[in-house]
Amino acid sequence: MDANEKVKAEKGLLMDKRYNCPICDKQFRSKAVKSNTAKFVDTMADLRPIHSNVNVTKYDAICCPNCGYAALGKNFDNITATQRKTIQEKIQTNFKSHEETECDIYTTEMAISRMKMALLCTVTKGGKDSEIGYVCLKICWLYQDLADEVADDDPDAETKKETYLKEAYNAGMNAYNRLTNARMHEDYPIAGMNEPTLDYLLSYFAYKKEDYTTALQFLSGVVSNRSISPRLKDKSLDLKDMINKVRESAES
Ligand SMILES: [Zn+2]
Repeated sequence: MDANEKVKAEKGLLMDKRYNCPICDKQFRSKAVKSNTAKFVDTMADLRPIHSNVNVTKYDAICCPNCGYAALGKNFDNITATQRKTIQEKIQTNFKSHEETECDIYTTEMAISRMKMALLCTVTKGGKDSEIGYVCLKICWLYQDLADEVADDDPDAETKKETYLKEAYNAGMNAYNRLTNARMHEDYPIAGMNEPTLDYLLSYFAYKKEDYTTALQFLSGVVSNRSISPRLKDKSLDLKDMINKVRESAES
């Protein structure tokens, strides 16, 4: 499939969804993936979901073009009167409203700037660590998608990939810090995850951070948990192998 056909195919999976903005009360549209159309393939080691026909994470942030308020779909209407006032004062007053952008699909770059707007609003309104961490996690995933999209014949391929993966790493570490706090102070589900899934994810990020002791601590409860899915069990055993390998090579 060439690039145009790909855009056409992705467009066919999308719909325009109407929203009422809880900050400015205006109506706007946002693109969403039609339900049951994305074909799931697998999740990566950091739980980044891979679908064969569309990257669903690109459509997770909802952004009001009138006032600048943005949030993940499931948190969009979830706002107190105080938070509403804060967003009006700190986001809306500085935001240049614009017409809704007419486009067929969201590119990964567009999705990243939308998700960054959601991060700014979630931090500004004083959102929970789990909410902020979840947005950071999605930014981490999107930068990896962007790195995957770099064409091999691009003369700057290596530099671009390196830059995007560094951004992914930084966003991943922010997610790690926020979700570690959430784990201590919030009830499950945290960012949509149950305890073993979150512990697995934190273990993976601790491994990326080269903090292998913490990584194994998070993982120990997951591996011995009898009720986890076979998929999570496999991932945990793979991660345990990776951690043990780097530790052995560090010792020898
Ligand atoms: Zn608005």
